[in-house]
Amino acid sequence: MQTIGYAAQSATTPLAPWGFERRELRGDDLALEILYCGVCHSDLHAARNDWGWTRYPIVPGHEIVGRVTAIGPDVTRHAVGDHVAVGCLVDSCGTCDHCEHDLEQYCTGGATGTYGGVDKPTGEPTQGGYSKHLVVRETFALRIPAGLDVARAAPLLCAGITTYSPLRTWKVGPGTRVGVVGLGGLGHMAVKFAAAMGAEVTVFSRTPGKEADAAELGAGRVIISSDKAAMKAARNSFDLIIDTVPVKHDLNPYMPLLGLDGTLVLVGQIGPVDEPHTGPLVMGRRRISGSAIGGIAETQEMLDFCAENDVLPDVEMIRMDEISDAWERMERSDVRYRFVIDMSSLAV
Ligand code: NAP
Ligand code: ZN
Repeated sequence: MQTIGYAAQSATTPLAPWGFERRELRGDDLALEILYCGVCHSDLHAARNDWGWTRYPIVPGHEIVGRVTAIGPDVTRHAVGDHVAVGCLVDSCGTCDHCEHDLEQYCTGGATGTYGGVDKPTGEPTQGGYSKHLVVRETFALRIPAGLDVARAAPLLCAGITTYSPLRTWKVGPGTRVGVVGLGGLGHMAVKFAAAMGAEVTVFSRTPGKEADAAELGAGRVIISSDKAAMKAARNSFDLIIDTVPVKHDLNPYMPLLGLDGTLVLVGQIGPVDEPHTGPLVMGRRRISGSAIGGIAETQEMLDFCAENDVLPDVEMIRMDEISDAWERMERSDVRYRFVIDMSSLAV
């Protein structure tokens, strides 16, 4: 199927319209008309080749909401006309230990990314949701629960699940003391989820002026990370800190904030960080961990949680041709709190 998207042709060229082919439907495939696509900081990292694996052209976008327009003969879970959602994964081996335990994001055979991956049967590169159409295996398409606003749901597919999953892994509940570093797309979802789970939430931000927003999102307080006195006063008082900072940074200021057995979970930067001091780890049994998105079953659980608890991202809707400006604003932390592309603005 011929479609159109916005692609980067190199690490230095801005996104621009690009016509390309989506594969013909295989037995268990759905074809979607994409209605909305969220704008994740990872899209920008990938287009600029920050991680070193990008092949061009690349169409970013892995927070996708669409309508099913056709189904393969073996499809049983979805029907034409359904609203479905697709996140960061479109395939995995299905047989490794992690896949068998619903942890496809950690597939040891290599999960297939929605963009920048390789379609296993054909070896073709996968292309993401800054486009008009998508073809995807039905098991990697999520059901959008009744009552969930489809125009706001897209960011849940990456920003949502990436923050929901560690909150579940570390069993956050009433009274858990949670810190969130960086109030952007991921950070604002971390605050909403942790608050909905009953946690006491603190935001660590480098940007003064986000206090009112943080309170509205469910945080009890904001600490400006450059405020040394406030950082010192907050020592030993967190069970879990989720760090969403997208660039190389220093973890050392955050380690002493954890209590005994507390964990700092990195979900932002992938790559080197400033040299961590082992003192706070040894002298308090503190831990540093990481976490990647979530499995398909957990993503469905997260969407259902959002419908039940009325949790939705705060979005700013943009047209496809406003993407360069949106990326620039995202880099300046000038996003409240996720851009979503209205794909009807992209003419075929
Ligand atoms: P975002 O909307 O740009 O938010 C990042 C926030 O971090 C900013 O709003 C800002 O918050 C803070 N920040 C930005 N630059 C900073 C700097 N130089 N120093 C300190 N703080 C800074 O980005 P996002 O979409 O939430 O993504 C965040 C990161 O998560 C990206 O690196 C992305 O690739 C990664 N990611 C990982 C996964 C995963 O599976 N682990 C999934 C999705 C995304 P304040 O203004 O409040 O300080
Ligand atoms: Zn993402």
